[in-house]
Amino acid sequence: MGTIISQVEGGNADAGAPVRCPICAQPNEPGRLCKHVRWTFDQGDPLEFARFVLDTSPYVQARGHSSSEIPKIWWERQGEWIVEKVLIHFDASDGYVFGEHKDLDMLAREIWREFHPEAERPQMQRVDLF
Ligand SMILES: [Zn+2]
Repeated sequence: MGTIISQVEGGNADAGAPVRCPICAQPNEPGRLCKHVRWTFDQGDPLEFARFVLDTSPYVQARGHSSSEIPKIWWERQGEWIVEKVLIHFDASDGYVFGEHKDLDMLAREIWREFHPEAERPQMQRVDLF
């Protein structure tokens, strides 16, 4: 798998000094997290975070969908792209993922649209090499 994932996983949430939140500056450590911590990598890797985001997304739920509809192979193919999106919307440092609540929804929408392009995106222009 991609090098970006291994870089992100380099941090370890339960080792070392508290990690300062880039939004509110509160130090975070196990058992003491500020409200901007959306995920810690001891809960899973960035792809598991992305799945969690989809499953808790009002946008996806409102359409009656869930991440279980997305085949494993798609996650694998899109892995680098998903990690990139996670890092665009969230600050990942030392095993913590920080972000605002609205960022969860933004990420869920982007991933879901990538998996399931909506009618307004003309299907004919999509060239799928796989
Ligand atoms: Zn914070």
